Amino acid sequence: AKAHQRASYSYFTVDMGVEIRERVRMMHALRAAFENERLFVVYQPQIDMRTKSAVGAEALLRWKTEDGTFVPPDQFIPIAEYSGLIVDIGEWVLRSACFELVELHKLGFTNFKMAINVSQAQFSHPLFLQSLELALKDSQALANCVELEITESMAMTDPELLIKTLLHIKHLGVQVSIDDFGTGFSSLSHLQKLNVDKLKIDRAFVNEINESSDEGSIAKMIVQLSKSLNIKVIAEGVETECQAETLMSFGCHLAQGYLYARPLSKDDLRSWLEKRAS
Ligand code: C2E
Ligand code: CA
Ligand code: CA
Ligand code: CA
Repeated sequence: AKAHQRASYSYFTVDMGVEIRERVRMMHALRAAFENERLFVVYQPQIDMRTKSAVGAEALLRWKTEDGTFVPPDQFIPIAEYSGLIVDIGEWVLRSACFELVELHKLGFTNFKMAINVSQAQFSHPLFLQSLELALKDSQALANCVELEITESMAMTDPELLIKTLLHIKHLGVQVSIDDFGTGFSSLSHLQKLNVDKLKIDRAFVNEINESSDEGSIAKMIVQLSKSLNIKVIAEGVETECQAETLMSFGCHLAQGYLYARPLSKDDLRSWLEKRAS
């Protein structure tokens, strides 16, 4: 038994070592990728389901390694957050998306909105507001067409700082939405105090809606909540007509998902929009 214990103990430390080394390796690779411009931003259209028109897009980060494979954001974003790299990378995404927004407006897609993910570390950084102001100023993007997506869990860590930062953002005219809504258990009274512009129904709740059942009770509840708070609501991860129809019957008219479009490169988004408009 003793030998066995020792063996499992040493396995445990070896595994930990491997995991940490792997994370450190990935962190260095990510930094190099950022410096060598192997990160890029793709844009997933957001649709008004009633008119089928594209009203905006969400900017999503991509990492293409030298051998041409993609590292999924779910893998590298946590490392970027953990290492602090997300502050610089996130600022770069913010700036890129603002500049692209202006290009789209110039192409005639007036009033097009750009949603940008902002992580906790970035949002609570003392220079965040300054970098947001600078991105708006340098790009000349219309503030009320820029929307920051923050997560529900962020809404809980430092409420004082959050409320202060949100007020400042509001003052700039920038919109705020709560991403992955329904997964973070934030209190409803707190939500009211935050004064955000939009809730984004998490994909998991959209996924529950299918032909064989009339699930979707959480999605429905979130739509009703948004109505009573008098804020907008959008569903993410919409993949089927059935989901779209059901969400509309609940009163949710904005959607994003593979049913309409996958995340697209800058050029592909432009031609996708042009084709749709004609
Ligand atoms: P998210 O913010 O919830 O983004 C939505 C994710 O759902 C995206 O995954 C998108 O490609 C995917 N998606 C969209 N429509 C569908 C659909 O119909 N079905 C399914 N199954 N998936 C769909 P992606 O691009 O892999 O990003 C994953 C996560 O990484 C994002 O989740 C976000 O949390 C994070 N992320 C991505 N880009 C950034 C960024 O620039 N900054 C920060 N802080 N986080 C980012
Ligand atoms: Ca998002
Ligand atoms: Ca989301
Ligand atoms: Ca999600």
